[in-house]
Amino acid sequence: MTEKQLFQPLSGNEMPRFGGPATFMRLPACDLDAGLDVAFIGVPFDIGTSNRPGARLAPRQIRDESRMLRPYNMATRAAPFDSLRIADVGDVAINTFNLAKSIGIIEEHYDRLLGTGAIPLTMGGDHTIVLPILRALHRRHGPVGLVHVDAHADVNDEMFGERIAHGTPFRRAVEEGLLDCSRVVQIGLRGTGYAADDFDWSRNQGFQVVQAEDCWHRSLAPLMQDVARRLGPGPVYISFDIDGLDPAYAPGTGTVEIGGLTVPQGLEIIRGCHGLEVVGGDLVEVSPPYDPTGNTALLGANLLYEMLCVLPGVQRR
Ligand code: MN
Ligand code: MN
Repeated sequence: MTEKQLFQPLSGNEMPRFGGPATFMRLPACDLDAGLDVAFIGVPFDIGTSNRPGARLAPRQIRDESRMLRPYNMATRAAPFDSLRIADVGDVAINTFNLAKSIGIIEEHYDRLLGTGAIPLTMGGDHTIVLPILRALHRRHGPVGLVHVDAHADVNDEMFGERIAHGTPFRRAVEEGLLDCSRVVQIGLRGTGYAADDFDWSRNQGFQVVQAEDCWHRSLAPLMQDVARRLGPGPVYISFDIDGLDPAYAPGTGTVEIGGLTVPQGLEIIRGCHGLEVVGGDLVEVSPPYDPTGNTALLGANLLYEMLCVLPGVQRR
């Protein structure tokens, strides 16, 4: 068997940062069946949002803001492009006039991608998209553990009478047996609610719930040591809603809550997943129309890069 061909992000010394391909990290654009270890993929979907829309535009904006990312992680010493074949497989062709059909399209697309053995790192899209992704992951891996960063638990039974929307995916995932509920942590939950027990539904399923107040003014490295002990061994998915971070850092999102996590805390959460059997990750809810500086998309691009750096098989030098 010939040695697999590795791809490198296009260097800023070969092509100016503001030129070249508009893919994630200016990687090659590949088909699903390109024999990848890791696939960056976009889901331009925001018809499940309840407040400000715009996440349909995020895959393009995140790709654009990823242009500054360099291949080597100076903090963790991870060198993902030295051992893994990584590319951008483009976007899922959702039907923006039909939410239910779009869910089916996303599911089928991820079935195909997972069938190639590639690990998906997804640029959302609103948080609705995690349900079809978890369904496809379940068919390949069985119930998965979950690291879920968010201001919201996203476990509503219904929104405006609908069972599939961006505030319901993890309720549906539990009902469908997609999660290993003893290996789920939700971090950053906060804000006003409808009832005192809004977050208790999660706790009653066996989730670990870490509200934002429990994160204030402290490093999350110790929390993540505990999380890593509980979530391993076994497959783990990372679902990162950008609104888990404070709107001071990530204003470009649809459902904003004050008092959120800091950027270093977001990095600590993802870096704390090193050593886990991470089978995929997403970065959702970036809304470019509310992100005039591009900082929210820049943050999203960096968080996806950090997810790449903790995947199994990434070497540290
Ligand atoms: Mn969410
Ligand atoms: Mn949220």
